[in-house]
Amino acid sequence: MTVNQVEPVGKVRTKIVATVGPASRDPAMLRRLVEAGVDVFRLNFSHGSHEEHSRTFQAIQDINREMGRQVAVLQDLCGPKIRLGTIAGDVAACDLDAEFVLTSNPISPDDPRELTCTYQELADDLEIGQTVLFADGTVGMVVLEKRPGWVRMKVTLPGRIRSNQGINVPGAALSVSALTPKDLADLEWTANHAVSYVGLSFVRHAADVTRLRAELQTRGSRARIIAKIEKPQAVANLESIVAEADGVMVARGDLGVEIDVAKVPAVQKRIIEICHRARVPVITATQMLNSMESSSRPTRAEASDVFNAVLDGSDAVMLSGETAIGMYPVDAVTTMSQIAYEAENLVFSRSHSGRGGWPMTAETCRDCPCGPSGTVARAGQVLPITEAVVEAASQVAATLRARLMVVATHSGRTALALSKQRAATPTLALTDDQEVALAMALYWGVTALHIPEIFDTGQVLAFADEWCRQHDLIDTGDRLVVVRGVIPDNPNHNAILVHEVE
Ligand code: ATP
Ligand code: MG
Ligand code: MG
Repeated sequence: MTVNQVEPVGKVRTKIVATVGPASRDPAMLRRLVEAGVDVFRLNFSHGSHEEHSRTFQAIQDINREMGRQVAVLQDLCGPKIRLGTIAGDVAACDLDAEFVLTSNPISPDDPRELTCTYQELADDLEIGQTVLFADGTVGMVVLEKRPGWVRMKVTLPGRIRSNQGINVPGAALSVSALTPKDLADLEWTANHAVSYVGLSFVRHAADVTRLRAELQTRGSRARIIAKIEKPQAVANLESIVAEADGVMVARGDLGVEIDVAKVPAVQKRIIEICHRARVPVITATQMLNSMESSSRPTRAEASDVFNAVLDGSDAVMLSGETAIGMYPVDAVTTMSQIAYEAENLVFSRSHSGRGGWPMTAETCRDCPCGPSGTVARAGQVLPITEAVVEAASQVAATLRARLMVVATHSGRTALALSKQRAATPTLALTDDQEVALAMALYWGVTALHIPEIFDTGQVLAFADEWCRQHDLIDTGDRLVVVRGVIPDNPNHNAILVHEVE
């Protein structure tokens, strides 16, 4: 394997999201993770205190300033994850056909067969015949009888359950909101910390995303929303959720409990395809290099999983426990980065030999409703002009073997459309909005910079030329393909300009 070089314009195009936890929250470790290739840090609000997350947030800002980087923060909201209450004796054996009661009002707290949970209405929301899963789906019970605030259940999948473990009810339309009181309290933190992304857990329909957007606006936050797909209802409503979200996460942890685990790979591919067409960045998450929590090398199956997630078209791949609590956080990032690099090479070599590259190229997209060149407008958001221009720019860059594409973008939309072309030529994105520069950390193949002025193409070119020289990225004779998105003053012009370095 080639050792991954850390370059200002990334050699690895696929973005890496890493979860921060006890194993990684030390500022020196965060810095090493950035050097190893992290683009976005995820703060999981299911764990840790506001003070801890504030310290991490500050450390990431310091790193960005000191290293001249744009590493973004994803605040992952806990959402309505239902958990068991305390079980008498902490552990209960669930033998086949044994009966348990789930109640909002326990009468004999010493009886381990009387279960409570963090969501008082659960018993009322359950139907007779429904299956309830515990301990990440390893224990199952079916509902036999129902009374107000109370159900009787029988074990159908035996195992052991423990206090505070998660509960899943596959297919249930629970009356719980995607935003819990804890999430609303966590959004008060968001009001004071300019995170780039907020992850919304257990999304079921587009209205959940709309609701969060309103809550963010009320608090003056410009954070973008990542809809986490981990419920069957979300899979059923994919198109409308993707149309409303700014990003999507294939949250395979809970998804693999809520739906048949054998269906997860196909669902992953479908989510990624829909996001690709809708020009929405998509993160593939959970257990990608799971064994690296306690081993310095991944399993072959994990290496293939990361590789295939890149081939599927993921914009980013994510590490959870590997960097939050693992023994080898830096190795996990380095390994992920190396695997992504190899996957990208395979695709570039295939596209070059005319055997078809990324799954959703203009070719493969021809028969789908999105039109002849793979251009789908998220209603009113992506202009077909932009799509045509970035497609042409990628082709010009390939034909000229350009060193870089440079895109001047105010909102980041042109950079995102360009990113989804999956061009072999890397992209340097210049924006006059610092928050947009950070958000682009999630865009495949894009390195973002914040500059004061993007409206004058001459200035943009001069800046890019100078910056690339300083960073030893260009030589005399190299070509740069400059793309300019629409600008407020002059909304009727997009431009492609080819520059040869003197
Ligand atoms: P989710 O369902 O949201 O992914 P999770 O419990 O699986 O929740 P991960 O973010 O995947 O959490 O992280 C893996 C593990 O790392 C967690 O189970 C937890 O034990 C630990 N962890 C993550 N973040 C923190 C933190 N800030 N403080 C302490 N432990 C953490
Ligand atoms: Mg997890
Ligand atoms: Mg989760």
